[in-house]
This record gives sequence, structure tokens and C-alpha cells, in this order.
Amino acid sequence: MEFETVQGVDVPKIGLGTWKMPGKTCYLAVLSALELGYRHIDTAELYENEKEVGRAMADSGVPRSEIFLVTKVMSSHLSHAEMLKAAQGSLRRLGVDQIDVYLVHWPNSRVPIADTMRAMNKLVADGFVRLIGVSNFSIEEFEEAQAASEVRLFANQVSYHVREPDDDLRTYCQRHDVLLTAYSPLARGQLATNRALTAIGKRHGKTASQVALRWAIQQEKVVAIPKSASAERQRENLDVFDFELSPEDLADLASL
Ligand code: NAP
Repeated sequence: MEFETVQGVDVPKIGLGTWKMPGKTCYLAVLSALELGYRHIDTAELYENEKEVGRAMADSGVPRSEIFLVTKVMSSHLSHAEMLKAAQGSLRRLGVDQIDVYLVHWPNSRVPIADTMRAMNKLVADGFVRLIGVSNFSIEEFEEAQAASEVRLFANQVSYHVREPDDDLRTYCQRHDVLLTAYSPLARGQLATNRALTAIGKRHGKTASQVALRWAIQQEKVVAIPKSASAERQRENLDVFDFELSPEDLADLASL
């Protein structure tokens, strides 16, 4: 596993996404990912699988301190009181004392951001959350959240893949030492059969999915969280640290 260092914290470059992975499928997928060497798991209150994520973490035998655990609070729970309650629910379901990164899942203009960030700050002060961040926030929304928070924001998790690169946000994250977590890094699986990616992969003995993931993680301050329920594809998605996309590859990818 390789790591990206953000604000002095080492984040595993590849994590396991768990959206649309319910019940036993989630439990088995997290267990196999941890066995394969994944050390970064992404879940959310909304995914209704925190219990299975927590159980798999406990049963895996991997020390809690080695796992970078990310969960998210639903956008309907962003008031101060609702968030404090939601966080306790997540901690209980996950079976942990502390969440590594707690993210606001989506912005909600009906709740003042100051109210939300006050709750986030309290969760950090009380030790329930190590790092805070947001998801699906524009640069402007991120800056509003940061202005309302005494604690520094660590991450913005957004849809980010080779066919949809947000250069402005990436540059912003790099300049401000903020983690950009690329969700849907395989464009929900569509990139696995992309012809251009397949051709580039052939130059390296890699698959189209591996090229898509390498493109993301080769960028500073960027990590990716592909979802797979299959141990075989989890292994494939993790096997992206032994090659590098050349300037020629990157130029071809830029024209996608
Ligand atoms: P994704 O990771 O881009 O793609 C997942 C799909 O690709 C699944 O259907 C998976 O099927 C398939 N797949 C995975 N690896 C493959 C491979 N090597 N070859 C072929 N197919 C492969 O999409 P995503 O699930 O939308 O995004 C990843 C994670 O990001 C989510 O699970 C979630 O944790 C997070 N996310 C966050 C937000 C947010 O609002 N913050 C939104 C969306 C997603 P199999 O399972 O059958 O392998």
C-alpha cells in the first residue's frame, strides 16, 4: 500500500468504497479487502452498512489503528443536535471509539453551515472524530465551511475520474493541502471496458480499471475509493503501485 500525506496524516492511496453493498455482501467484501491489504474503508450513515463494516473490521484481526475509517453524516442530519446524535449512531454501529474522517455527505442549504461546523468541531474536541471534511462541496462551499470551523478541514470527497477531471478543485486541494478523495473512480464500472484505457493498459500489462485508478492516485493529494464486492476485482484495483503512466499516456488520457 502507498500513502498520500495530507496535513501530516498518511492516507492509504486506495480505499474500498461500500456504496450499494448491503448486509452480508458488505461484510464479506470488507473482510476480503482487509485480507488483501486494503487499509482504508469508506462508508456512510446513508449506506446502511456501517454495522457490517464494523463487524468485518473486528473479525479481520487487523488492528483498529491500521485502518483509515471514513463515514459520512446524512445531509438531513446537519443541525448541531442531529449531527451529534448521528455520530453516536455511527460509532455504535461501527463498534469503534473514534472515526478517522467524518464527512458531511452533501451540502444542505436549509441548515446554516455554522451550526453544522460547530457540531463537527465538538466531535473532534470530544475525541469521537479525528479529522473532519465534506463531500460534494464546491470550492466556494468548502471555503464557507472552513470559515465557519476552527478545526481545519481535511478532505473533500467528490466524483472524480479520468473522464471527469475537476482540475480547479484538484489544484485547490493541492495548494491548500486538502485531501481529494475520488469517488466513482471507475465511473461506476464504465471505465473497465473503455477502449482507450484498455490500449494504454496494454503498454503496461495492466487493465483499463488499473489505468483509471493509476491516473487518479498518480496525482498529488488524490486518493481513490473503488467499490468492488469481488475479491478478484479488489485485488486488481489494489495492484496499481508497480507502474507509472508516462507523459504520453497522460496526453492520450487528457483527450478522452
Ligand atoms: P466505482 O467504484 O467507480 O465503480 C464501482 C462499480 O465498478 C461496481 O459495479 C463494481 O462491480 C465495478 N468494478 C469495480 N472494480 C472493477 C474492476 N476492476 N473491473 C470491472 N468492474 C469493476 O463507483 P462507486 O461505487 O460509485 O464509487 C466508489 C465509492 O465511492 C462508493 O462505493 C462509495 O463508497 C463512494 N461514493 C461516495 C459518494 C458521495 O456522495 N460521497 C457517491 C458515490 C460513491 P463489482 O462490485 O461487481 O466488482
